[in-house]
Amino acid sequence: MVYAAADNRYDVLPYRRVSDSGLILPALSFGLWRNLGDQKPLANSREVMLKAFDNGIFSFDNASNYGPSNGTAEETFGAVFQSDLKPYRNELVITTKAGYHMWPGPLGEFSGRKTLTAALDLSLQRMHLDYVDIFYAHRWDPNTNLRETAEALDSLVRQGKALYVGVSNYTAEQTKAIAEIFEELHTPFIGNQMSYNMFNREAEQDNMLDILDAHHAGLIAYGPLAEGLLTDRYLDGFPADLPLHRSNSFIADDPKGTVAKLNDLNDLAKNRNQTLAQMAEAWLLRDSRVASIVIGASSVDHLLDNVKVAGNMNFTQDELAEIDRILAQ
Ligand code: NDP
Repeated sequence: MVYAAADNRYDVLPYRRVSDSGLILPALSFGLWRNLGDQKPLANSREVMLKAFDNGIFSFDNASNYGPSNGTAEETFGAVFQSDLKPYRNELVITTKAGYHMWPGPLGEFSGRKTLTAALDLSLQRMHLDYVDIFYAHRWDPNTNLRETAEALDSLVRQGKALYVGVSNYTAEQTKAIAEIFEELHTPFIGNQMSYNMFNREAEQDNMLDILDAHHAGLIAYGPLAEGLLTDRYLDGFPADLPLHRSNSFIADDPKGTVAKLNDLNDLAKNRNQTLAQMAEAWLLRDSRVASIVIGASSVDHLLDNVKVAGNMNFTQDELAEIDRILAQ
């Protein structure tokens, strides 16, 4: 059946301008890291992605290495783009990244000019796109000089293959350093995509948000639910082998303490008439310099639970203090 996007798709979620740039993102973006790759039936992935778009999620986040098998998440996106989303290209903000290991040999990873250039070409092919909206350097490269990385990203914009560029997993100091080069080159730098959730508040440190804003960029927060922990799913405990992302691995050091916090947070969320997932997402969006949060979901039920974040995005000072108190326990 031919897909027709819901007419009310822009009435469901708020959207935000990234600093004072021309780019606008939905409060929630949809990531394809490991929920919709080669291990999931395409029909399910299509259903979740189209439901996301119908509910105002017009930004889709990818990376060359997402799948689980390298490239397969971009292939999934590409298949759904070809079959359904292509007529909506002008509405979509499609992002991808390069820097993790992709092909044999020393040039298959990190952020040298050759690697980033070849990686973006391959991503465009897999997703059946002429350009991406944001192309990110996925991780800090300790060996390539930063100017080369910045100039390589800048060239890709000049070639029309990306509209904006970003970095991901950079510290505040690294972000500032590359943002200064971008400013000199007049590169449209849009932000840092970082892990940010109630347990992991590194993004709030070292003036990261001020640095980004000063460079007309924003924070794009990934992993808002800490692998689904910040939901009502693990209130009785979580498995020792829960596959935590490296940015959240410290959470497993104190499973009992974590579960106690989850229960206290869940009670607070109930008082706010929302689920813990919705509260955890609303809390990340309390600062307007957080341009969008990138969620992951492999079921429509989870997706729709998250979209309802729009129902209550305001916090009283008491609620914010209570969240800080619970998290500091
Ligand atoms: P989340 O924090 O949203 O966690 C997703 C997990 O939460 C899934 O297991 C999902 O389960 C579960 N979940 C989602 N909603 C609910 C709900 N309402 N109730 C219960 N469980 C729920 O994000 P991810 O860690 O998946 O990351 C999201 C995206 O961020 C990635 O796809 C990627 O685009 C980006 N990212 C970027 C990184 C980088 O280095 N730049 C690193 C990691 C992620 P289920 O699958 O069963 O629906």
